[in-house]
Amino acid sequence: MSMHVETAQKTGNAKPRMLESFAPATGEKIGEVPVASRDDVKSAIARARKAQAAWGLLPVEERCARLLRFRDAIVDRAEEIIDVVSRECGKPKHDALSHEVMILTDLLTYYCKNAPKILEPRELALHLLKHKRSVIHYVPRGVVGVIGTWNFPFVIPLADVVTALVTGSAVVLKPSEVTPLSMQKAKDIFDATGLPQDLFVVVHGGGDVGQAMIEGGIQKLCFTGGVETGKKVAAACGANLVPCVMELGGKAPLIACADCDVERTARAVVFGGFVNSGQVCISVERVYAHASIHDRLVDRVGELTREIRQGDPQGGDVVDVGAIIYAKQIEVAEKHIADAVAKGAQIVAGGKRRSGPGQFFEPTVLAKCDHTMTVMKDEIFGPIVPIQKVSSEEEAVRLANDSHLGLNAYVFTKDRVRGERLASRIEAGSVIVNDVLTNYAAAEAPFGGMKQSGFGRIHGDDALRDMAEARHVFTGRLPDPKSDPLWFPYSPKAFKWQLKLLKAMYRSGGLLKKLGRLL
Ligand code: NAD
Repeated sequence: MSMHVETAQKTGNAKPRMLESFAPATGEKIGEVPVASRDDVKSAIARARKAQAAWGLLPVEERCARLLRFRDAIVDRAEEIIDVVSRECGKPKHDALSHEVMILTDLLTYYCKNAPKILEPRELALHLLKHKRSVIHYVPRGVVGVIGTWNFPFVIPLADVVTALVTGSAVVLKPSEVTPLSMQKAKDIFDATGLPQDLFVVVHGGGDVGQAMIEGGIQKLCFTGGVETGKKVAAACGANLVPCVMELGGKAPLIACADCDVERTARAVVFGGFVNSGQVCISVERVYAHASIHDRLVDRVGELTREIRQGDPQGGDVVDVGAIIYAKQIEVAEKHIADAVAKGAQIVAGGKRRSGPGQFFEPTVLAKCDHTMTVMKDEIFGPIVPIQKVSSEEEAVRLANDSHLGLNAYVFTKDRVRGERLASRIEAGSVIVNDVLTNYAAAEAPFGGMKQSGFGRIHGDDALRDMAEARHVFTGRLPDPKSDPLWFPYSPKAFKWQLKLLKAMYRSGGLLKKLGRLL
């Protein structure tokens, strides 16, 4: 993978192949980790399964109390994490702190505080079978696999890890091969807390290692990555009957209504489009600006973009935007720009890669865009914000929904009622009014995509329950008779009274209706 090369160090059988990590802001090698073989993956899953057996038996309160040690260690050693993530991704330390360490710490705190309540056994009020007692228990799945990406190499995979650990499962995790050191740091911190090391095992390598994990006997997979890889991974999960959560690509539209606050909207576009060099699945990937504010918005977005300080975050000066983590994204950006310009787009700011050392691409604003251009239709995952003029909210909503992706969407208007009305019409997993990106930081709220942005949700109470298996325990409320009227032997009499019961109970105006129990 471009600068992140896997090298086979064949200096004897004992030495594993190594995966090297390079700082994208300088090109320097900053470390290496051993690549897992198929057998390593198998043994990782076996070790995790063994550790899970004891962990899963602990009461959830006890698991949470122990996991808070991990939270405290992350807080205590935040500077170390921030340093590795910042170097390995070439991202400002501010980003590593507020978008990775802070969010993970808050999620861990939220789950550890609330999991005993969220995972409490739930008794159901049965409609038909009133003589039965029905209780749902949330039990551990076993070993959960996590496959991560490189844009937020700490928070995204670890959010899945802590969710699984809270529910009593163990985890085998494969970080992105582009950013292995960030997770290695998390693993070192986890091990130092005294929690069982095999509860959370990290295996390094590329897609083949991920594939080995899916085929290796895991009970659930949490996958984050691109749509094309996601299709292959979901197919492999299907072939192995492994349930999965798919967190895939995004193409977040931002609708700037005629009544928006242009200054706030422009600042939101610039932050939402360029933070983390635009390598965010919920980045502002396209803007639909109402004709009445379009020119002012484009001018202001251009001005603010030209003020962005870009450079090596470790270089001494404070920078707003760092490097491109994965070099291939530079070519993707160049292709989008060439296609858009050829079809009539105008470059308002930026537009090109910066010469080395390191991998940098200028924050770029394109105006006069439309849906014939790839930049408005396909994921960019880089620092480009394309803007299209629209003449009505109707047009904006139609264009926002003209996408195969549906992760986040943004609406800017001074009228919150209008904002919420528009939000209800947009095909996206989350719609945010007058803000960008922040919803990911809400530990309580579900996060995930519609359409090809994936399926399943992370964060929030439902995701915690979904991470567990639901076991339904069904018992009687009355003394158990020797036999049951529904059992053998069948008789014409039994058939008759059941039919009578059906009509009495469910016919409109029937018995239950009269008792107020049926529609
Ligand atoms: P990618 O799909 O190339 O790789 C993701 C992971 O999948 C890597 O760890 C990779 O090694 C692994 N992988 C590759 N082939 C595999 C296979 N056949 N079987 C199992 N694993 C395999 O994605 P990327 O370039 O690392 O990440 C960028 C993409 O991730 C973007 O599309 C972005 O939008 C998306 N993303 C989504 C979210 C979200 O929450 N929805 C968050 C971050 C990133």
